[in-house]
Amino acid sequence: MTECNDVCVVAEQTLIVIEDDENIADLLDTYLRTAGFRVLLAPSGERGLELIDQHSPVLAILDIGLPGMDGFDVCRRIRERAAMPVLFLTARDGEIDRVLGLELGADDYVTKPFSPREVVARVKAILRRGESPAPSDATVLKIGDDFEVDLSRREVRVKGEPVGLATREFDLVAHLAHNQGLALSRQQLLDSVWGADWYGDDRTVDVHVRQLRRKLGDDLPLATVWGIGYRLG
Ligand code: CA
Repeated sequence: MTECNDVCVVAEQTLIVIEDDENIADLLDTYLRTAGFRVLLAPSGERGLELIDQHSPVLAILDIGLPGMDGFDVCRRIRERAAMPVLFLTARDGEIDRVLGLELGADDYVTKPFSPREVVARVKAILRRGESPAPSDATVLKIGDDFEVDLSRREVRVKGEPVGLATREFDLVAHLAHNQGLALSRQQLLDSVWGADWYGDDRTVDVHVRQLRRKLGDDLPLATVWGIGYRLG
């Protein structure tokens, strides 16, 4: 997988597009299929969750304005089930703020109207981030006695108990764990974890750090380094 570039199709990966606007759904369907993905389409959150349970797609593209359950609710329900990445389709500034609030752990978002090529590029970027590490990497990183970051299972365990994290939360703690003892600036973290093409700002890092502290507990040795950023361990 690590040898693969943009043009190589390893195996058909299944994505789900949860979007009630038929034109947008069809457009995404066409582009994603052309890019080599298998695509499930759901016109509502309820249907989307059914399909997720049946087919376990690797990533969800999720509209926010949906009939019935809205995209935020759907995302919350997805998070209860799996650590599947979620790419939000947002229509309004107010929605972007909520997506960035990231209680939900969105992995990325695009704003309508968007270019379908851009969506395909972001989907690929998210999936690349989630690829298994090279075999030479240690697969379990220890943080103190109580915390383990299992890179191959993409799981963090506190005293042996797995804790559910969103994709970026996991990527962030994994990156910090790789660099234990080093103070990393917010910009370094943005570049390494979110990638240079990420539009967000420092606030994104702070929100994710807050989520990690909340989910992993007060014993997590994640320090704020004044004037710089964060240090783990
Ligand atoms: Ca809609």
